[in-house]
This record gives sequence, C-alpha cells and structure tokens, in this order.
Amino acid sequence: MDPNVLFSAPSASNGGSRKNATLICAPTMAESLEKMKIDVSNAKDTGADVVEIRLDALNTFDPSQDLNTLLQHRPLPLLFTYRPKWEGGKYDGDENKRLDALRLAMELGADYIDVELQVAHQFFDSIRGKSFKTKVIVSSHNYQLTPSVEDLGNLVARIQATGADIVKIATTALDITDVARMFQIMVHSQVRRVCLVPFIGLVMGDRGLISRILCAKFGGYLTFGTLESGVISAPGQPTLKDLLYLYNLRQLGPDTKVYGLIGKPVGHSKSPKLFNEAFKSVGIDGVYLFLLVDDPANFLRAYSSTDFVGFSVTIPHKETALKCCDEVDPVAKSIGAVNCVIRRPTDGKLIGYNTDYVGAISAIEDGLRGKQNGSSTAVSPLAGKLFVVIGAGGAGKALAYGAKEKGARVVIANRTYDRARELADIIGGDALALADLGNYHPEDDMILANTTSIGMQPKVDETPISKSALKYYSLVFDAIYTPKMTRLLNEAEESGATIVTGFEMFLGQAYGQYENFTGLPAPKELFRRIVNYGKLLRSDRLSLHHNPRIRMVSTICICLHCL
Ligand code: NAP
Repeated sequence: MDPNVLFSAPSASNGGSRKNATLICAPTMAESLEKMKIDVSNAKDTGADVVEIRLDALNTFDPSQDLNTLLQHRPLPLLFTYRPKWEGGKYDGDENKRLDALRLAMELGADYIDVELQVAHQFFDSIRGKSFKTKVIVSSHNYQLTPSVEDLGNLVARIQATGADIVKIATTALDITDVARMFQIMVHSQVRRVCLVPFIGLVMGDRGLISRILCAKFGGYLTFGTLESGVISAPGQPTLKDLLYLYNLRQLGPDTKVYGLIGKPVGHSKSPKLFNEAFKSVGIDGVYLFLLVDDPANFLRAYSSTDFVGFSVTIPHKETALKCCDEVDPVAKSIGAVNCVIRRPTDGKLIGYNTDYVGAISAIEDGLRGKQNGSSTAVSPLAGKLFVVIGAGGAGKALAYGAKEKGARVVIANRTYDRARELADIIGGDALALADLGNYHPEDDMILANTTSIGMQPKVDETPISKSALKYYSLVFDAIYTPKMTRLLNEAEESGATIVTGFEMFLGQAYGQYENFTGLPAPKELFRRIVNYGKLLRSDRLSLHHNPRIRMVSTICICLHCL
C-alpha cells in the first residue's frame, strides 16, 4: 500500500483537497492487539493517513502472529515502532529480539518502521543486500531540550548518513522559541534540499505544539495526531480531530499566514476555534494557534518573519506586549495594555491595539439599556454611575479607561493596592484594597466589573466578593468566559442585578481583532454562532465563501533568515 497515493486521491474523510503533503499519523498505544485493530479502524474513519503501531505498548507480543494479523487487510499504511526504554519507550527486553521484530515487519511488508539512530548502523548492516518496500525512519529523541541550529543540522546529516529513507528528529521545547530552530532546519532541509530525504521535525511538550501544526506549512513529512485527547505517545501531541477540524491542517501551505494567541496559560481560550472557523468560512489562507509564550519579546523576535502576521495577547502579557510594539494605537497607549498586535506587511513593524475596551464597555452599555445588540444613543448609560473595577491588569485598565471615557466615576479594587492606586491616579479615580471591597457601599445602583481570573476554570468555586455585598450593584459584569456563568454572575443574578457575561466582551474584542487582522468587517453573526454553538451552519459557509473583498495582507517568506 503506497501512502503517496493519498496525495492524489484524498478521500472525503480527509477533508477534500489538500494543500500540503504532510501525513497525519495516529499513534496507537493500546495494550492488546484487539484494541490496536479497533484504533486502526477508528484512525481510518477519522481521517488519518498512517497509524503508528507502538509494539512496546502491547502487554503480550508474538511477533510472527501479531504482525501478520495487523498487516493483513490493513485499511491504512502502518508504521511499526518498538521503542526501547533507553529512547523513551516501554520495551525493556533483549535488543536482538527487538530488532528481529522490526526486520520481520519489513519482511511481512510493513509500510514504515522506526529505528533509533543509536542502533541504525547495526540495523542497516543486518539487512544489507536485501530489498524491501518498507521505508525506514531513523529517529532521534531529545527529552531534555532542543539543541542549537548547528547541532540540529549535524544531527540531520548523521541520520541521513545511516541510509535512512526518512529523517525524524523529536526534541523538547523549554520555550516556544525553541521551535523556530526546528522550523529553520526543516526549511533548510526541505526547501533548500540540504537533506535529500523527507524530514520529520517535531518539538515535544506544550510549548512545542506549533511544530506539530506548522510542519504542514514548512514541508514536514509527517505529524502525529492522537485518537483520544490525552492518550499520547509523546508529550504535546494534539488530537487527530483538532489537526483536521480545528487547525484545518490539510489546507495549510507555504503561503498560509500565521496568527495566534500569546499568553500563559492559553489552553482555555476559544479564540483558535473562532478565528480558524471564520478564516475557513471566509476563505482566508490563515491559521490561528495557541501560543504558550513565556516572554513576548523573545517570541516576537524569534518569529519575525512576515508569515507571522497577527497576535491576540492575553494573561499575563498585555502590558509587556505593548513595550514590544514599534507603534501603539493612542487608545491602547492610554490604557497601557495591548490585546492585539499586527505585523505591518510593508515594513514588518509591530503595531499594538486594545480592543478589550470597546468590547467590554459596549457589552455593559447594552446590558444597562436592557438589550443585547441595541444601537447606542449619544449619552452613555454609564455617565455619572459609580463603576467599580476589580483588578488592575490589562483587562482592568481597559475597563477603567473605557468607563471613565463614558463619564462614569471609577473605583479600582485590587489585591495589590499599589497597582490599584497607580491606575486610579492615571485615569482620575479612587482606589481600594480588594480585601475592603466587601464593606464598600457608598451608594446603591453601582456597577461592578470583575477583571481578575478569580472564578475562572478550574477554580470555579471562587469569587472576588461576598454575595451579601452584591445587593448594592445594579449591574455585574465578569470578564471571565470559561465558564460562561461564573459563581459571581450566578450570585449577582440571585441578588437581583443585571448580569453581563465575559462572552459578550469576548465577542466584542474579537470583532476588533478580526478587523485588525484582515482589514475586513467582522462577520458578527457568524462569530456569535460559532461561540454559541461551536460550529457553523452550512448556510453560513455558502454565503461567506469566496468573499470578493478578501485581501491578503502580505507576501510570503519562509527563507531561513526570516524565521
Ligand atoms: P492580568 O493583566 O494578568 O491581570 C490580572 C489581575 O487579576 C491583576 O489585577 C491581579 O492582581 C488580579 N488577580 C489575579 N489573580 C488573583 C487572585 N488570585 N486574587 C486576587 N486578584 C488576582 O490579566 P488580564 O489580561 O487583565 O485578564 C484578567 C481576566 O480577564 C482573565 O480571567 C481573562 O480571561 C479575562 N479577560 C477576558 C476577556 C474577554 O474577552 N472576556 C478579555 C480579556 C481578559 P495583582 O495586581 O494583585 O496581581
């Protein structure tokens, strides 16, 4: 069975036409042969190209019988891996028996086998003079770090010199910028043809996730996607379904623009689902990723190519990201935080914006007017109100600035009083320590806006203020949107206040980001439906497809120097 056939005739389950040749491989770590067979069948149904059979995961293994069983009537090409403990696997037995099993897999017609670099010369010596259809992947795993570009280059050369049909290098990301080195090697190897055989370059761990997606853009031969969330064969693997349907992996190509959410943590965010679904529906050649970033300045420096075009920014980087920008929108400058950074295509300069402010304030105004999507009147319903903001971080600054702009009297309550004081002084308001908020009730009908992460998943039992103090507020807003109904909002509703969820702010700030990213008006109804229902109606796709107003914002460059 030739997996390359898949390139010319992709099945409907593979997502129709594909713009890259990267194979998606589903690993099975099942402990029984029966379960492995079920996994292979599920992988086929879900849309994988290849299944990796991890022989070292089997509780019992009879090489001749079991390999025959797996290879007969296989619905997909199979890759056999028999990983020893010394390379991060589970096999702890005799080395000769392990390599015998891999040789037998070749004799029985396996599509691929994986042999570790450390034993590759010995293995190739043992099959010299024989001819097999099987492609031999020679692999090297580094569970500690990602070496320098020079060392990675040398490693590629060493693996290639063994006679490998395919080079595989898996390293570990201590920082997301480590992945840039793997991309450099991939582009160098494949586009510049320094490596004469196909190359698999993956970076393990949460910080390496983008390597598993963008390899399809940069010419990687194969990536792994798991059948079930969390059932992984190496740290950081996404699910097969996420590769296919969240990141639209089949549609990524050299021209695909990269967007993403810079933050720490980022896993809770709905932005990747929202933007990827919108890009696909509107026909924009872009992918939006989770970017688990420790240091925004390092990240933006490492990914300075014009391919990396736009970023959302979240906890805790909104203020730091502002300092990384070459130019900052005046509103964002006043707030002191950005939640959106665009790389200007003409000169590569970074431009910072804050769309949290409009998103949150218009949602609260709509709440006060008693409607969700009403048109605004000249005078804001916030004018003259006492507006209490809990938190003095990025979102807190946006809310405080926005409320002040609308004529509210603003009070900042924060865990760290000095930060509350500092923000209050900047916008012309009052400050409180968060501990004193429960006893604060100078008047009735106040507005409360929580902009801290207190009550966010997984700590959903927490709340920033006691229920008894909520009776002084006529409207309570919570910036948190996972969960949609926080404990704060539930208790505020029980106390008789109007509530406004973080979902409304999320949608509002996302409209602004989309407009900054694409130069197009945001498809608001579409966004609302994606957020509410998680997917689109067929009619949405039909009406948005091939939008003639789409313009791409910059030209492609995947050269070594630009990454
Ligand atoms: P940030 O810049 O890191 O600020 C966090 C703020 O929360 C700081 O004032 C911090 O107080 C306070 N805080 C954090 N943990 C606390 C705790 N355990 N107890 C008391 N105070 C605590 O974060 P951000 O970007 O402003 O985001 C804050 C929240 O808003 C997050 O939950 C985020 O998901 C949400 N958000 C939602 C949207 C939306 O679209 N709905 C948009 C933006 C943000 P200290 O100063 O004392 O550290």
